[in-house]
Amino acid sequence: MIIINPATEKPIADIPEDDQASVEKKFQKLQAAQPAFGHMTLPERVGILQRFSELLDTHKTHLADVLSSEVGKPVQQSLNEIGGARARIGWLAGHATTYLSEETMSVTPGMEEKISYEPLGVVCNISAWNYPYLVGVNVFVPALLAGNTVMYKPSEYATLTGLEITRLLKEAGIPDDAFQIAIGGPAVGASLLELPFNGYFFTGSYKTGKQIYEKAAAKMVVCQCELGGKDPLYVAEDVVDAAAVAVGTADGAFYNNGQSCCAVERIYVHKDKYEEYVNAFVAEVQSWKIGSPTEEGVYIGPLSRPGQAAFLEMQVKDAIDKGARLLTGGKRMDRTGYYFEPTVLTGVNHDMEVMKEESFGPIIGIMKVNTEAEAVALMKDTPYGLTAAVYSADKHRAERILEQINAGTGYWNCCDRVSAAVPWSGRGHSGFGATLSHAGLRAFTKPKAYHLRG
Ligand code: NAD
Repeated sequence: MIIINPATEKPIADIPEDDQASVEKKFQKLQAAQPAFGHMTLPERVGILQRFSELLDTHKTHLADVLSSEVGKPVQQSLNEIGGARARIGWLAGHATTYLSEETMSVTPGMEEKISYEPLGVVCNISAWNYPYLVGVNVFVPALLAGNTVMYKPSEYATLTGLEITRLLKEAGIPDDAFQIAIGGPAVGASLLELPFNGYFFTGSYKTGKQIYEKAAAKMVVCQCELGGKDPLYVAEDVVDAAAVAVGTADGAFYNNGQSCCAVERIYVHKDKYEEYVNAFVAEVQSWKIGSPTEEGVYIGPLSRPGQAAFLEMQVKDAIDKGARLLTGGKRMDRTGYYFEPTVLTGVNHDMEVMKEESFGPIIGIMKVNTEAEAVALMKDTPYGLTAAVYSADKHRAERILEQINAGTGYWNCCDRVSAAVPWSGRGHSGFGATLSHAGLRAFTKPKAYHLRG
């Protein structure tokens, strides 16, 4: 498999891919290693994952360079990602004892009732490229903490990072056979579905997630899917400083080139604040430095995948053909690398793809609304349900709106953020199941109830 740097379009590595026979061998190793790994004490496993986090810190400069070279994000954003991953490991390792230890639920004369949290066994993690450290850590860290052995399939666009993660986990003390990496693209992912894993944990697109869920269902094993989104944001008329809100929310839409599952993907602004908001938003977008990921101060680098520019151009064309106004951007840039201009469209509506289908790129539609009710109806008009955000001076009003929206996460006066303390979960086409928080630690376990008389 040839790895291409999206900023230079040059090959940077050539790595042998797995096939059905090699993943099968790796699976057998994982299966053989699981009982001993599961019997390691929880404090031992916690210690290993904490050491892994320290190694991420020690090697962060190199790791950030590797990540930027294969996905194209500015090096500072790669460093931020590694820092974010460490914060998540800190929370998960720090709370493992609380949520994974045996719990005595009731003791009455002659009867004790308790729960033990057993590992699922050998689990499969098929992962995405946009934040390989974050989406990886969400799965393999709690899986390992709970005593599972793990087959980790990084995205074909983040393979070098997957190899670094594997190396550092082993260096931290994960036994060789307890963590295996499967290298390759969709075909290798599909070959993992032919094996009898005890659980499938997928991060990626709705289209692939649906296929994986259908395959896993027949096996009667646990399956979780963290999928895409079309996350809405509403700016109400009572915001105090619409220009400041525009600056913050532009970052929520364009950070990592908009290639975030929880990026703001569509914006509704009350008519009273619309002009002020849009003017400040466009000024902010036009102020960003676009360039090579290694250049100081760059905010927008190249897209990670070569095909995405054509998809974004299709969304822009569809919107303009249906009456939208292009305020800035709108096309790929005339330079080497997969660069696309940060793009702002207004005069948009829900007949347009850009307001309906995940863009996963530096492009946003901003729509003027007359009432809160209109905003809520539009926010709800989607099969996705990852996050939703409301900017308003009134917390109760924001909570009242967020309650009505079928999404796993609600934000008031913030957006595009994840915390390890609360569940990360989608609804509808954004998936099901949860990572992070107590729910995300226990997702990798089978609770066993004990009724002990005597
Ligand atoms: P993708 O679905 O194209 O690929 C994801 C993974 O699945 C890759 O490792 C790929 O090789 C593998 N794969 C592809 N086809 C397969 C098949 N038929 N069988 C088994 N495996 C297969 O997604 P992507 O482009 O890597 O990621 C982008 C998507 O992920 C976006 O939709 C984004 O919103 C979503 N995402 C969601 C979250 C979340 O937490 N909800 C986080 C990050 C990304």
